[in-house]
Amino acid sequence: MLFCLASFSVSLAISQTTPSWFTAKEVGPKIWQISDHGSDNIYLVEGKKSAMLVDNGLGTADLASFVKTLTSKPLIVVITHGHPDHAGSDYQFEKVYIHQADAEAAKAFNRPDSRAASAKTMQAGNAPAEGELYKGKIFETELIPVSEGKIFNLGGRKIQVIETPGHTPGGICLLDIKNKILFTGDNNNTLVWLFLGNCKPLHEYLVTLEKQLAGISEFTTLMPGHGVPMPSDFINDQIACVKGILDSTLERKEYKSFAGNSMVCAFGRASVAFNPDNL
Ligand SMILES: [Zn+2]
Repeated sequence: MLFCLASFSVSLAISQTTPSWFTAKEVGPKIWQISDHGSDNIYLVEGKKSAMLVDNGLGTADLASFVKTLTSKPLIVVITHGHPDHAGSDYQFEKVYIHQADAEAAKAFNRPDSRAASAKTMQAGNAPAEGELYKGKIFETELIPVSEGKIFNLGGRKIQVIETPGHTPGGICLLDIKNKILFTGDNNNTLVWLFLGNCKPLHEYLVTLEKQLAGISEFTTLMPGHGVPMPSDFINDQIACVKGILDSTLERKEYKSFAGNSMVCAFGRASVAFNPDNL
């Protein structure tokens, strides 16, 4: 399936008037992966009636205008979780859907001072050029709660919310039912962070992964918030990794990042950075 999807991969010609901060490529049928200048992946999924933006990046550049170069359909913005590299552009949109448990975090990261701080630590490369900065209205964004089973009908294309607590308490994945594609935020990256202060204990994250495995017939491809698309069986490696941490059969190494130090284990294609005091 991954090879099928690759055939849709088309680099878009960027005109001189289009901001260069973002780049987009079509990674599936009417699915664009938008690179937030290399920091994170944002996805745009278009149906016959409307389009969905899955996550909105760091918020340092004018995403709202860039999205208009890709679709003219009315936009539904949904956030997989409340971290600043996924929910940082909420302020550019009037309404954003998010799980209730991550709403406060998303709000906190949409203040100018928070945005500046996350740009400093998480942004890849230099700051956006003056012409790429957001110049539109700063919205008092309405955060609309979503929960398990909610279905967005984009017109000939339905997207279903699946709750996946772990990396954050209110993390969700979004399933493109017809095309069997799962947008996974930070839940199924090749390296998943489970050591942050508000992460769920590792054994609860294992429950989330086993829930995904139980529904694996519903999707063939994972579209992560960082990195490249992965086949769905990647989840088996993640489960083996978490089990190997919990039963202490995997070698633990130190892991350092701007967000703090922790331990990390690897199994197959998967790595999980975790807090030994929050298993
Ligand atoms: Zn995250």
